[in-house]
Amino acid sequence: MPSAAVFTDLDGTLLNHDDYSYAEALPAIAELRRRRIPLILVSSKTRAEMAQLCAELEITDPFVCENGSVIVVPPAWADVYPAEREKLVEEAGALLDYRGANRERIVQLLKTMKDDFAFSGFADMTVQDVMDCTGLSEGAAAKAMQRCASEPLLWRDSAAAMNDFAQQLGRHGLRVLKGGRFYHVMGECDKGDAVRYLLSIYESHDGAKVGSVALGDSPNDLQMLKAVDQAVVMPHPDGTYMHDDGLAGAIHAPFQGAKGWQIGVQAALSKLDEEKQ
Ligand SMILES: [Mg+2]
Repeated sequence: MPSAAVFTDLDGTLLNHDDYSYAEALPAIAELRRRRIPLILVSSKTRAEMAQLCAELEITDPFVCENGSVIVVPPAWADVYPAEREKLVEEAGALLDYRGANRERIVQLLKTMKDDFAFSGFADMTVQDVMDCTGLSEGAAAKAMQRCASEPLLWRDSAAAMNDFAQQLGRHGLRVLKGGRFYHVMGECDKGDAVRYLLSIYESHDGAKVGSVALGDSPNDLQMLKAVDQAVVMPHPDGTYMHDDGLAGAIHAPFQGAKGWQIGVQAALSKLDEEKQ
């Protein structure tokens, strides 16, 4: 079992905001592998998108999709995963822990709110629309649309209307979180819940505290950043950082995307190493 674990957001964090490249982060990823530190991807992206990225990066750790709505558990974890086995769904060699809401239900509810609020969700968009607003390739956009527990939307209404919208969703047991490009409508779960849950598994298996690091850039990352020992806040593409009183001890990465991620991971691991001595 590891002495540390690194949890990371993807868009604008491990991946560049504009071209989605992770190339400049590869040395730090190799360093984590050398030190046997798990790298747990935690994103608003779908399982289809994240499974491909894990394959490319040769990551075999669990990963968290759709903002904490689904944890994908590798087969090797079947015996250590504490959720009741009957609640886990086995699909294509992985165990899935569904923690959020059902997307069909979310989309049905959003349809009834169209008269009162101005927004476009993925359910209203074609693959070309998603390509246009994300810059993803056709294949990647199609994978981004294979959602099971959350609905991303472009908000075309006022901030005041967003408050009403969030309140109405709350009455149906749903919430809305702001990501880098989209607002995400989802169940009452978040990245923080999933990170705390996975950390507790590492620690109970190890019988010792696991030093934890998380990297993220947007409000949907806030609970994840607060759940770990060392947060790394990534700048937005315009150079500004998310602000929150709970991020007082955070490292602020000097660049967005893969280049900043590489520096942020190294700074966070050095700080954890110093604290251990
Ligand atoms: Mg992000």
